[in-house]
Amino acid sequence: MAQDQDLLDLRGCKRIALMGGTFDPIHNGHLAVAEAVRYGLKADRVVFIPSGAPLYKDGVCVSHREHRYLMTALAAEPNPFFFVSRSETDRPGPSYTVDTVAEFKERCRKDAKIFFITGADALAQLPAWKDAGRLLGMCAFVAVARPGYSKDDLHKQIAGIKETLGGRITVREAPELAVSSTEIRLRARSGQPIRYLVPDEVERYIVKHGLYRENWGVELPEIGELDAALRKSLSDRRYIHTLGVAETAAKLAERYGADRRGTFLAAMLHDIAKEIPAAEKLRLCERYGLKPDEIMKRQPDLTHGMLGAEIARRKFGLKDKDALNAICYHTTGRPGMSLLEKIIFISDAIEPNRPGYGGASGLRELAFADIDRAVAASLESAMAYTSAKGKTVHPLGKKALESVGGESQMAAQSGKAEK
Ligand code: ATP
Ligand code: MG
Repeated sequence: MAQDQDLLDLRGCKRIALMGGTFDPIHNGHLAVAEAVRYGLKADRVVFIPSGAPLYKDGVCVSHREHRYLMTALAAEPNPFFFVSRSETDRPGPSYTVDTVAEFKERCRKDAKIFFITGADALAQLPAWKDAGRLLGMCAFVAVARPGYSKDDLHKQIAGIKETLGGRITVREAPELAVSSTEIRLRARSGQPIRYLVPDEVERYIVKHGLYRENWGVELPEIGELDAALRKSLSDRRYIHTLGVAETAAKLAERYGADRRGTFLAAMLHDIAKEIPAAEKLRLCERYGLKPDEIMKRQPDLTHGMLGAEIARRKFGLKDKDALNAICYHTTGRPGMSLLEKIIFISDAIEPNRPGYGGASGLRELAFADIDRAVAASLESAMAYTSAKGKTVHPLGKKALESVGGESQMAAQSGKAEK
């Protein structure tokens, strides 16, 4: 393992694979992919590049960049082909891959081939990255599959990117470990083991520095049980999304002083009914005495809020009215939403594991600055999207928009930031 002083001498390398990420923390999924791709490409080295400030402020929404850099360095140390770059750690402001790759190109010999490794989820966001077309012309992308993300979609995304932006993108086989940093953080927070999911050195670092130890106002065994139940009932993808919503909601609860426990439980359970097939959703509504209106009957997915709240109450013993309402109205919104309802509603739109996350960056910042304006913006863009798909916008959404102050400029904004 070497740091940038040594990396300055990249001129000896003919094939170099870069892997960018938040690495909060780096885990065995990253390492297994990096090693498989290095071997497959016959690369001289893999350079991990922990991002600088991907969200808001260091240490607030992601661990401080130095923690992330150091964990990545510890993980890379045992592998003679693995290196870590401080390029984005040391660059002030948001880090853009296009700038990083340009810097690496300058430091490499002219005939060196540079590859950039991305998982399926990151590749889906690539079109929203800064100067994506130019970036695609600067290096070859290597995409790997990732549990929870469909391979068909990956191939479609690649075809789409090639058509609109050009570039070289190939898919490589690599071990598909169903592990994510989001899940590691949840496990660390709830006292579940993370051993064998991250290198031992990284585990020790997390414990020593007390990373991922926020107080969510929920007993640790309770988080563990809820997590296990969700893991069983949700698809990989929905589970990963749910954890992203829970983390985001917890941060917003801290920012606005909302009840931590209610926020966390509502976030974890908000999509519990989402994956129930449409016909079954309507049957369950009837069985539980819920009364979806005509629009919901025609678009049964809209019932997953009310049905989710009922399941949270019946099967998970959730009693908190505010939390139940937050689950119930997270799909449509409603006039006079409580703080907790707004937090769940907006977290659903801005959580970092959602496809299109890059495009939501302006909205994310707005959510932390002015939650009403963020809810308004999100309602507006959701309505535009619903109408564009030829579906009926639910009147509750329209009323919700009026009640949070209507018009907003944000819906039109397409984010430039990435990661
Ligand atoms: P988080 O859950 O915080 O988003 P993450 O596990 O997705 O973390 P990142 O740092 O966001 O990790 O990802 C860096 C890169 O590694 C991305 O290109 C991502 O797609 C890829 N990646 C992460 N985990 C895996 C995995 N298990 N398999 C394949 N690729 C992965
Ligand atoms: Mg990620």
